[in-house]
Amino acid sequence: MPWFKGNLHTHTNKSDGDSSPEVVVDWYEKNKYDFLVLSDHNHLTILEKDDTNILLIPGEEITLNVPYSIHVNAIGIKKVIEPTIRTNKAKTLQANIDNIITAGGLAEINHPNFRWALDEDDLVQVRGAHFLEVFNGNFNTHNYGGGGKKSVEEMWDQMLSRKIQIWGVAVDDSHHFQGEFALSRHNPGRGWVQVFAENLSMNNILESMRNGNFYFSTGVKFKEVVIDKEKIELKITGDDVNEGLSNTLITDSKYTTQLISKNGEIIEEINGKKVSFSIPKITDKDDYIYFRTKTLSSTGSVAWTQPLFV
Ligand SMILES: [Zn+2]
Ligand SMILES: [Zn+2]
Repeated sequence: MPWFKGNLHTHTNKSDGDSSPEVVVDWYEKNKYDFLVLSDHNHLTILEKDDTNILLIPGEEITLNVPYSIHVNAIGIKKVIEPTIRTNKAKTLQANIDNIITAGGLAEINHPNFRWALDEDDLVQVRGAHFLEVFNGNFNTHNYGGGGKKSVEEMWDQMLSRKIQIWGVAVDDSHHFQGEFALSRHNPGRGWVQVFAENLSMNNILESMRNGNFYFSTGVKFKEVVIDKEKIELKITGDDVNEGLSNTLITDSKYTTQLISKNGEIIEEINGKKVSFSIPKITDKDDYIYFRTKTLSSTGSVAWTQPLFV
């Protein structure tokens, strides 16, 4: 089955983006994305496009800024979902996730560290969300934590270690398609998902994503990913750089891939473009464990595979 590249989090001038839906879709199409979710704040932006190859999946960023900043992407919905407020952050997050699931959509917990809105204690109370933004392309979403605050990747491990099955994603959260591309601006091309699906139809992409049949990346590209109960095998193609550069593949990078387990513990590391991990045998049958990989490039870009639950 082929891989399809997509971005799940994008803004247009229907909310606080600087460009029309046409211009935004055009950027992603020119940069060889296969699908795109336009996720304006509390707005369902629909663009009818017959003359393109890019698949547009309807979406919305359900956005609350008062009394707390809780943003949740609703992916694959048919009509706008109004934000809901409850008595605390975790209950508010849960209520909005539940509304997305009721509407038949996929729920993505966005940038927990934006305004330091959500920490691991909130996230581990929540059930049923499909995705967590482990990487968000904006500098002010503080993916990496610090100063006593956990990174989003650490929060992901906290959730996974408590048997909350949630897939990680990397997204652009792009707003700025005009003017210069710079670190301080919210430009496209920084984080994406690669979905393994039979073909590029909305149903197939959404079903594959629901089942975790994808990896997510800020640059590292795989040509092969094999995950089963005995092994995880990866073949790395190179670094896909497309921030305004129209798909440049860097092939002379060096790579290290980590096998990560419960509580984020790194249990093995392999250097090179061909990676093969044997899944350790679990001795106690009642014990629960998961394994995931993280590939780090010498360019600084990263790709993550989804957890295998054992
Ligand atoms: Zn947001
Ligand atoms: Zn956003």
